[in-house]
Amino acid sequence: MNTAIHRFRWLLLGMLSAISSAAVGQAPVVLPVAGEITRVQDSAWVRPDDGSLERPADVLAAEGFQPIDALEASPEGPAWLRIPLQAPEHHAGSWKITVKRRYFRELELFVPTADGAFQRYSNSLAEYQPVELSAWFMVYPLTLAPGQRAELVLRAETLQGPLSPLDISIQTEAEYLGERATAMWAFGLYFGAVIALVFYNLVLYLNLRTPGHRMYVLAMTAVLLFMGMDAGLLQNLLPEALRERELMITVTLSCLMMAATIRFFQVFSGSAERIPRISTVLTVVALAFLVLAGITAFAPLGAAALFGPLAQLMTSIMVFVLIAAAALAGWRGSNAAWIFLAGWSAFLIGGFVRSLIGVEAIPRTEIAEYALYVGSVLEAMILALGLSYRVGQLREQRIRAEHEQHRAMTLANQDALTGAYNRRFFENYLDTLLEDQRRSNSESALLFLDIDWFKQINDTHGHEAGDVMLRSLTRRCLRELREGDVLCRLGGDEFAVVLRSLSGRAAVDVARRIHRSVTDAPVHYDGQPLALKISIGVLARFEPGMSRSDVLRQADQALYAAKQQGRNRVACSSSQ
Ligand code: GH3
Ligand code: MG
Repeated sequence: MNTAIHRFRWLLLGMLSAISSAAVGQAPVVLPVAGEITRVQDSAWVRPDDGSLERPADVLAAEGFQPIDALEASPEGPAWLRIPLQAPEHHAGSWKITVKRRYFRELELFVPTADGAFQRYSNSLAEYQPVELSAWFMVYPLTLAPGQRAELVLRAETLQGPLSPLDISIQTEAEYLGERATAMWAFGLYFGAVIALVFYNLVLYLNLRTPGHRMYVLAMTAVLLFMGMDAGLLQNLLPEALRERELMITVTLSCLMMAATIRFFQVFSGSAERIPRISTVLTVVALAFLVLAGITAFAPLGAAALFGPLAQLMTSIMVFVLIAAAALAGWRGSNAAWIFLAGWSAFLIGGFVRSLIGVEAIPRTEIAEYALYVGSVLEAMILALGLSYRVGQLREQRIRAEHEQHRAMTLANQDALTGAYNRRFFENYLDTLLEDQRRSNSESALLFLDIDWFKQINDTHGHEAGDVMLRSLTRRCLRELREGDVLCRLGGDEFAVVLRSLSGRAAVDVARRIHRSVTDAPVHYDGQPLALKISIGVLARFEPGMSRSDVLRQADQALYAAKQQGRNRVACSSSQ
């Protein structure tokens, strides 16, 4: 689009010149009464060589005008504008002339005074005696007597050739004040909302340390600074030395905004996974914007003529590349990319609506005037909501992963038939316990359990009956254990119980309780009561320094003793 405009700039300029010289050549513009606005747009492209500037050369020279010949040597140099005015017959008083001041290297305004002389104003911030630095306009006073004819003369030198239309309006004081109040209200609302969102996400970043929140804060801060310049609010805060660099600073900020927006998109949408090649290109472009930001921050003022349009061209291309990249990443399954697309589109639509006013395709209503700000705040909100959605999603993923891990751990350590821990877990657990005991000097106990005549049960009533026995034993045993105790099935009909930090008589008591609980009542299988009898060997105390095999051997000996003594009983290790 930009390149097309650039290629046909002479044709465009010629057309604009023809239209506007025709407009200026017509009857004088009658100044509005209250409630009306006279807008003189595009007239800035009136070329001086068509005779539209008729002020005597010596007057102009005294006022600081350059000779008209200079324009021939530099076709993109200053443009002259002459606006004939006539005040209404019955309306004496004050008007405000507002001139859009963006992208003008030089703008001189010669405002007629009541005595027929001219008051010279300049757009240089250093020279400007502010009536009001309102939004992106500079405002100048105009006082005319009723019916007075006068001529407003303007010299404009743009930094961007035909890309910057000149926008002048002449309003009554009351109307001007009304518009200004709306502007302040709109800006307050916009900056307040976005600053709050940035702050909120900064707090989230400091808590969660998510790269998405960090990039949001950086990108939206760049947007805020850029919009602050765009609104004409930050200029007031610039130190004197930087005032003449205003345009370069705006270009720098727009480059930073693009770099940060691209990086935000990458982090937010996971573009490196979904669209790896395009994502690499985006990284390069983001870097290019950073380099351009660095150059414009320090380049001499004259370079704005090169870097301003370059940044604008790169931005125009990237706007569409980002849309395409987001759509593609969304297509490949990134929901976040769709959210980005929604936010980015809101911003672009806002900008588009505002540019439609610039070319007078739509009327200058308030909502259209502030469409860019509405779009920008919508973008900030949509992206912030998207981030919370994404954080929620990530948290869900993490919980699911932890759950899976826990399940896998349990499966690896659990006996499938009874749900008790398995031998693998038992051995690890015992090793850790022995290690802990060495350090803490505490004592624990180990019980070995084995069903009596189990083979017989299997043989008589079937394998299934045996399984039911094994499960009943587990259930009854667990009923007698404390939370820290561990029941493991070592294999076949053999179980172990580790009683942590419990030893001596207390451990023997637990063994007896388990024995009673398990053997007291028969197990019912297929309508028949089957007697469940077990032998328990007790190692009532294992001391610091004992090895795992010592412990196992002694518990085994105790169990063997219980079997030897006639089964269905509790026996203690002989070494106790
Ligand atoms: P003892 O009184 O000396 O302990 O005699 P026992 O018959 O119980 O003999 P032992 O402890 O050696 O018997 C183990 C039997 O357990 C052998 C095997 O058939 C049976 N078994 C092993 N695993 C399972 C199982 O998962 N389910 C069932 N139903 N039986 C099993
Ligand atoms: Mg047995």
